[in-house]
Amino acid sequence: MIDKDSRLNLKKCVIFFDFDNTIATCDVFDNMLLLFSRDDRWMELEKRWKSGRIGSKTCMEGQLRGMDLDKRSLDAYLSKIKLDPSFKELYKFLQTKKIKIVVLSDNFDYILNQILRINKVKKLKVLANKLSFSRGKVVTDYPFKNKDCQICAHCKTKNLMAVSPQGASIIYVGDGSSDICPARRAHLVFAKDNLLKYFKDNKLEHIVFHNLKEVLNHLKRKLT
Ligand SMILES: [Mg+2]
Ligand SMILES: [Zn+2]
Repeated sequence: MIDKDSRLNLKKCVIFFDFDNTIATCDVFDNMLLLFSRDDRWMELEKRWKSGRIGSKTCMEGQLRGMDLDKRSLDAYLSKIKLDPSFKELYKFLQTKKIKIVVLSDNFDYILNQILRINKVKKLKVLANKLSFSRGKVVTDYPFKNKDCQICAHCKTKNLMAVSPQGASIIYVGDGSSDICPARRAHLVFAKDNLLKYFKDNKLEHIVFHNLKEVLNHLKRKLT
């Protein structure tokens, strides 16, 4: 078997992380549904999204409309979110190796940035959908929507390609359906859950991971 990742170009290497269930130990948005939804209507949207009848933008917009969400209660909830216990060590290790690190998320920038700030993770580049508060109301925007893709709100592949310099080695770490398309462009893929299933089913090269300690240990062996 060809060891594809032994050919990584360490001088030009970019690592992309998904956020929910990858850097964060839970799906932060899914848990918000249980905490802030006024009723059970979000479940119908979730069902339609899972079966592919609606994309994640339509799904999330509908679900956000069904929530009683103010900045204070959201911030209080976000302050309790736990990061993978090895994320900071991994982040530091990648920084010492001068590897470019980017988070690609189909969640919202406000949510990710709050969690990262509370966990004292500084200067991490985050590309995600936009959420802000205006006069107490939630305002969203989707600058990375791809009009040719009906699945994602933030279509990650375009950003992955835009951020990666020519000839760069691309590493991808993720778990979800929105990670499939960008991960296919990567030279080294760490996969779990839905992403893992897809890579297995399609016989694509990948490394299974359950937590970021495993990613850290693997990269330490590869990059030192
Ligand atoms: Mg995820
Ligand atoms: Zn897409």
